[in-house]
Amino acid sequence: MKHELFRGRVLFHCHTHHTDGEPSADDYVQWAAEHDLDRVVFLEHIRRAPSYDVAAFAEEVRAAGERHGVPVTLGFEAKVLPGGSLDIAEEHLVLAEVIGIAEHGFPDDLDLWEESLRTAFERASALSIPAVWVHPGLRLRKWHRLDAERSRYESLLEAAQDAGLLIEQNARYRLVSDAALPLVRPSFLVRGIDAHRLKDVERFFVD
Ligand SMILES: [Zn+2]
Ligand SMILES: [Zn+2]
Repeated sequence: MKHELFRGRVLFHCHTHHTDGEPSADDYVQWAAEHDLDRVVFLEHIRRAPSYDVAAFAEEVRAAGERHGVPVTLGFEAKVLPGGSLDIAEEHLVLAEVIGIAEHGFPDDLDLWEESLRTAFERASALSIPAVWVHPGLRLRKWHRLDAERSRYESLLEAAQDAGLLIEQNARYRLVSDAALPLVRPSFLVRGIDAHRLKDVERFFVD
């Protein structure tokens, strides 16, 4: 059974003007209210030393949900660091209701990348909130090794699901790749927009 956060028509994976997106939290939630969506799940970029006021953002999200009468969920997209820890401070992780695990910027070392992801999956399985491996394989694609390292990729998808992580099918990057999609157990698959503009949201729900 699908995790309750992802049941129905859910706008998952939104970035706001606090990072590299354009809309405010309120813009997304208003759009969701106008289009009768069931929930908005934010997945804002974060780092250990964030560039924005995380507590204020959390309050914006909560207030937007209340204003428009739409359930909202506060989530962060954190990158995996070499060694497998996530680039998020403990004080912000405790605010999160969902965590996205991303491969953004990583040393060019395939074995270290794999080991770090495996460690991150294990640690995420100990959290009390759902964790999602977002746009899985983005590093491999950027290294142009998604095909050559197919078996490593498939094994990591298995490991993530065995650890209880959800797997994102990301509309922006088309990852998880179509070729690997059959490896994702249906109840573990979540569709993410990776929205940076309201246009991304419109396109997703029209398609
Ligand atoms: Zn990302
Ligand atoms: Zn994202």
